[in-house]
Amino acid sequence: MAKNILIIGGGISGITSAVEAAETGYSVILVEKNPYLGGRVVQMNRYFPKLCPPTCGLEINLRRIKNSPNIKVLTLAGVENIEGNKGDYKVTIKIEPRYINERCTACGACAKVCLSERKDEFNLNMVSTKAIYLPHQQAFPYRYVIDSDACTKCGSCLESCKYGAIDLKMQAETRIVNVGSIIITTGWKPYDASKIDNLGFGRYKDVITNMMMERIASPNGPTEGKILRPSDQKEPKKIAFVQCAGSRDENHLAYCSAVCCLASLKQVTYLRESIPESEIFIFYIDIRTPGKYEDFYNKVASDSRVTFIKGKASKIEENGSELIVEAEDILSGTKRRENVSLVVLACGMQPVPPADITSDKNGFINPQKENGIYPAGVSKKPADVASSVQDATGAVLKAIQGIIS
Ligand code: SF4
Ligand code: SF4
Repeated sequence: MAKNILIIGGGISGITSAVEAAETGYSVILVEKNPYLGGRVVQMNRYFPKLCPPTCGLEINLRRIKNSPNIKVLTLAGVENIEGNKGDYKVTIKIEPRYINERCTACGACAKVCLSERKDEFNLNMVSTKAIYLPHQQAFPYRYVIDSDACTKCGSCLESCKYGAIDLKMQAETRIVNVGSIIITTGWKPYDASKIDNLGFGRYKDVITNMMMERIASPNGPTEGKILRPSDQKEPKKIAFVQCAGSRDENHLAYCSAVCCLASLKQVTYLRESIPESEIFIFYIDIRTPGKYEDFYNKVASDSRVTFIKGKASKIEENGSELIVEAEDILSGTKRRENVSLVVLACGMQPVPPADITSDKNGFINPQKENGIYPAGVSKKPADVASSVQDATGAVLKAIQGIIS
């Protein structure tokens, strides 16, 4: 029996699983496709339940990972093949080259001389970075990386790095590891809003997604936390939130994404704090704030500058510098047309299961008793951070049982 546990996905669920398993005495290999750990949570401005910035929960866990002799972190890595059975898996992992070694101090001298640029996907492509870049200010590992698609291999950065940290000849590497259990925490991506034609995302600059709003509101985001609309960099005064953008819709995501109502209510607080004269309209089908979050909903709803309109937004159009959101208000039986300066689409979560792992028609992975592969967090179902953390802790217990049974 192999005593190692492989964790695929280094977001909040994967990080939680890694520290819990390692601190119980098991060896962990944590595989992450991005050049950094933290997943979606690290992109947030604040997150539930305490509405604190991602640093408050992640920093301590990243320190636990750093200090643990039992955890091996592989970034820019993905699983290519899994063979074997419960207790004894042989897994092939491919690690893409970072082109930067561990001597990097993140001094930034290389980025100053690099002339090539790439879209910054950490900031939802709203800005760009140099081809050699630090993924973000809290990146773990805190080390630069080169985007090979954007790099011209001109070599200018080599001379600027006095630490000898750049290796443009670095090659991809394949490792085969033997593990007893596998925890899948590959998480989610935001649903592609450009597929929802009637809501105008991609056509109108000031129709943004909820993840874009998180980055715009973040102090380390493209506007350093000032909430400005993309078209003219002015403060939006009237803002519409369109709930269930793509969720609970057979043509897009058939399920409720579980977190978008709370995410919008949270983002309303960002706006009301930073733009006191702002006026908010929330177009919704139902507001879902389970358990103790009902208090949070009541607090936001008690704000006289926040209006809830029960009706699915049917159309968004541009009118000069404004946007018009149209919906059937089903409580009053009237048609609403609100002129606003910014629209935030509450887009849902789409799971990203690893290739070769069986998932349901929506991409969620069902736990299977007979094997030693355990999904956790959003790999299994839409979930908030607190539920994902609990689920990841539970998955570790199952993974340990899979090894010792
Ligand atoms: Fe500095 Fe070199 Fe790292 Fe670039 S690669 S940030 S120059 S240490
Ligand atoms: Fe930029 Fe690549 Fe040239 Fe380095 S080699 S300066 S990363 S384009």
